[in-house]
Amino acid sequence: MHASDIEGDLTEVLVTESEIHAKLAELARRIEADYEGRDLLLVGVLKGAVMVMADLARELRPHLNMDWMAVSSYGTGTQSSGVVKILKDLDTDLTGRDVLIVEDIIDSGLTLSWLLENLRSRGAASVEVCALLRKPDAAKVEVDVRYLGFDIPNQFVVGYGLDYAERYRNLRDVAILAPHVYS
Ligand code: 5GP
Ligand code: MG
Ligand code: MG
Repeated sequence: MHASDIEGDLTEVLVTESEIHAKLAELARRIEADYEGRDLLLVGVLKGAVMVMADLARELRPHLNMDWMAVSSYGTGTQSSGVVKILKDLDTDLTGRDVLIVEDIIDSGLTLSWLLENLRSRGAASVEVCALLRKPDAAKVEVDVRYLGFDIPNQFVVGYGLDYAERYRNLRDVAILAPHVYS
């Protein structure tokens, strides 16, 4: 197994590792300013958001907490089902907490709008969203994203935590998969 094995499966790199890091640093400065003097709880959505969470959290200077949720929406395919199920819930009581959901990508928006409603119903003081990527042309519901990395075309992407059939999460950039991978 070599890096070139993965690179042969890609048609185009959409966002590079260094562009991602620069953007997360920029978002972290805004988050620090907005949450000054408050205790922030970052909620990462497994598994896709692990890289965003790891890099964003290390950009943030103040004390913070991290917790994780796993929800199902896609299975191993590429189509949004709209059906959301909690596979792993938070360990943290959200009562009175300032919550920032950390997401990899907003496609239809169905997962995130469901998640926002679910977390808000738990008595949090605030629930906002930080997402690295968004596909505006794929939106089925509008989601208010306070901190957004990049808008990208309506294509299936992998890398930086994002998978196809549980592969490609370790790719450092965000890239479009070559058609031969699907067939
Ligand atoms: P949504 O509910 O907004 O349609 O998407 C929910 C989840 O589907 C995302 O958090 C992500 O895990 C997955 N997803 C959506 N679009 C893509 C994509 O282009 N590539 C990959 N690998 N996963 C995606
Ligand atoms: Mg996700
Ligand atoms: Mg996936």
